[in-house]
Amino acid sequence: MALMTCPDCSHQMSDTAPACPQCGWARAAVAANLATAQHAAAKAKSDEEGAKLVRISTLVMAIGLLLMLSGCGLTIGLGAGPLPAIAGVGLGFIALVVSAVIGQVGRAKQGRIV
Ligand SMILES: [Zn+2]
Repeated sequence: MALMTCPDCSHQMSDTAPACPQCGWARAAVAANLATAQHAAAKAKSDEEGAKLVRISTLVMAIGLLLMLSGCGLTIGLGAGPLPAIAGVGLGFIALVVSAVIGQVGRAKQGRIV
């Protein structure tokens, strides 16, 4: 235990005391304010990361849909056999699943209900 000087009244107080015995300056309030500020900063960072993940998820979803459409387009439009359609739909489906997972993680980081 050490002594510190109260920032409010300059009275010597224990650095473990929750408040100044002389003027009642409360250390807890300062700590709480600091914690609130840190929490807000952490939340802003998390929101930003979440928004980025949601954007990535949208991009991956678009790629998945394009793969499906182009695979089917090659098979149906150009008569290229069933392989492009199977590959396109398969890869596109994987991309959609990945997109859904990334999007859910992003929304969870933003604090939205998943
Ligand atoms: Zn004081």
